[in-house]
Amino acid sequence: MTLNYLALAVPFFLFFIGLEYLVAKKRKKNYFSFSTSIANLNVGVAERLIDLFTAGSFYFFYDYLHRNFAFFDIQPTLLLWIALLLATDFLWYWYHRYGHEVNLFWGFHVVHHQSEEFNYTAGTRITIFQAVVRTSFWAILPIIGFPAPMITTILLVHGLYPFFTHTQLIGKLGLLEYILVTPSHHRVHHASNEQYLDKNFGDMFIIWDKLFGTFAEEEEEAVYGLTVPLRSHSFLWQHFHYLVELAYGVRRQPGLRAKIKLILGRPSDFDPSLRPLAEKRFLSPHKVQVVSRKFRGYVLGQFIAMVTILFFLLLFEHTAYSFLQITTALFILVTLINCGALLEQRRWVFYLEYIRAGLVLTTTYYYFPTPTMGALLGLVTIATIAFFSSLQKQYLRYVYG
Ligand SMILES: [Zn+2]
Ligand SMILES: [Zn+2]
Repeated sequence: MTLNYLALAVPFFLFFIGLEYLVAKKRKKNYFSFSTSIANLNVGVAERLIDLFTAGSFYFFYDYLHRNFAFFDIQPTLLLWIALLLATDFLWYWYHRYGHEVNLFWGFHVVHHQSEEFNYTAGTRITIFQAVVRTSFWAILPIIGFPAPMITTILLVHGLYPFFTHTQLIGKLGLLEYILVTPSHHRVHHASNEQYLDKNFGDMFIIWDKLFGTFAEEEEEAVYGLTVPLRSHSFLWQHFHYLVELAYGVRRQPGLRAKIKLILGRPSDFDPSLRPLAEKRFLSPHKVQVVSRKFRGYVLGQFIAMVTILFFLLLFEHTAYSFLQITTALFILVTLINCGALLEQRRWVFYLEYIRAGLVLTTTYYYFPTPTMGALLGLVTIATIAFFSSLQKQYLRYVYG
């Protein structure tokens, strides 16, 4: 049985998040809030989950470009590994900078910046859309001649490093501040203070920011999050709000030229009146108030169960049956939406329970298609439909008190 040891990334990250939480608590620092941390981690879980289905295609893409268009035949020597690391980091700088300077790319990258607290959970806020945009920037690497296995190895290192720059517990790091992107540098990047805006785009090396004039030293204390905070923990809204706003803006523009100009325009020039418009249409007016212990327990319980399932799904990637893989992935995805919607006090969370139950029953029937199982499935379906309203009432009372 071949196990996918990359699954160990899940407990690895969780260990450091737990450690940071404990140290912060011991130092009496208020760096974590329940809702924001859960919302942050949900984004990370989704990325890991979808990566299960897309990582292979990224590899295939690099390999295809390398086999067909490579200029040089690059062999993995120490010097070329270093060159590749630098080249990757250089491309990252520009990918990240355009992520902040072009509306369309900001629509994807904004998710990384929504957290109003800065800790390792914010470091997990990476979306699959960002990965797609990034891959197109890195496409130049196999064309230069770097083979796909080399690129994916470097991307692993490059993906791991930035997680550790998302912390307030580590101060300035002396000489390292001149070479590497440190927590201090990245705090500046996540800040919405005027003098910190659009600064420190680097991922591993700070040299590019110094070279291209986007470097800022950490001086006054940072205020984290977007300049206009997103008042929502909804998983879906966090992912799509800017794209919805952009679509509203594009619709208002007369003519194709103006529309394209807006799509490629700067987020700093973006019409701020579009956000409330989109919110009014799509967002629940309920304020997020997580008070009861039981409610937290319910959300946390789901989260822990979901992460555990994700870990085993990743670990047995090569052995699991594909139908089981897909239904499990869908189950996790629905749970992610559920966790976000619960924090928003959405009443439709109850319907998600139906989808989850449906997924479990279908999967069970798929693998055990006996008449008894079929009858049981039918019975449960009829019962849930018949007692829908009383079940819903009980559920909402249970969750929200
Ligand atoms: Zn950024
Ligand atoms: Zn970051």
